[in-house]
Amino acid sequence: MRIDVVSIFPEYLAPLELSLIGKARQDGLLDLRVHDLREFTTDRHRTVDDTPYGGGAGMVMKPEPWAQALTAVAAERPAEAGKPVLIVPSPAGERFTQATAHQLAEEDQLVFACGRYEGIDERVLEWAADHFTVRPMSLGDYVLNGGEVAVLAMVEAIGRLLPGVVGNPESLVEESHSDGLLEYPVYTKPSSWRDRDVPAVLLSGNHGKIAQWRRHEQYRRTAERRPDLLAEFDAGKLPRADRTAFADLGYDVVDGRLKQRPDA
Ligand code: SAM
Repeated sequence: MRIDVVSIFPEYLAPLELSLIGKARQDGLLDLRVHDLREFTTDRHRTVDDTPYGGGAGMVMKPEPWAQALTAVAAERPAEAGKPVLIVPSPAGERFTQATAHQLAEEDQLVFACGRYEGIDERVLEWAADHFTVRPMSLGDYVLNGGEVAVLAMVEAIGRLLPGVVGNPESLVEESHSDGLLEYPVYTKPSSWRDRDVPAVLLSGNHGKIAQWRRHEQYRRTAERRPDLLAEFDAGKLPRADRTAFADLGYDVVDGRLKQRPDA
């Protein structure tokens, strides 16, 4: 996969040289290039922002440097390859989820446009639609200072799904959000630590019981921390023991969906 990131702070992306993503780049699994937006300005001060039309606080990123930078990135792509995806980090974008990461990991090129200040002149997104599939994308319901932190998170989430990046691909299967639930708690040696014992079932060697315990822990943890996820969970084919586990947590299965009992 090729990833291009355009930013006024290219050095902000330096962590992408480390750890698994850095190794993936060294191994040629990920071709990641960072571009300095100021290289695409034409004035002596390398200006990338200006005051907002209509007044108000803050500055807005000027359209022309963005058009120049994105044109240069698009020009490196063979015409027959079609439009690459342009991700524009924004708190006003669609929510970036694990499902989005899986979907984007299938693309052959992703371009990220890191906004700063009050964001990028809206016309850039309209113009870019002729050359890219434009997707404004939010990391969550809070406001960051710039798109770079969002890009670090998204590139890591997408990059680790690329074939060969994570050593044991099975470790991706049971993670939080892979099946719409949070992951079960995990433990390592020693089995007894500061008067706290690892749950006995994990030492039993009974794989069926361990799998069931882990599933039920997923249900318990998700009900406790993220009940919103349970509303989306497909409970239609749950075995009886799992329905009982949900019943103990105050949820009944109605038409294949989990419904919290009013008294729970
Ligand atoms: N005025 C904008 C608004 O209210 O929607 C916020 C601008 S924010 C200070 C500057 C930049 O940070 C945005 O253009 C975007 O690139 C990035 N950013 C901020 N919060 C984000 C979030 N939750 N997800 C993704 N990017 C975010």
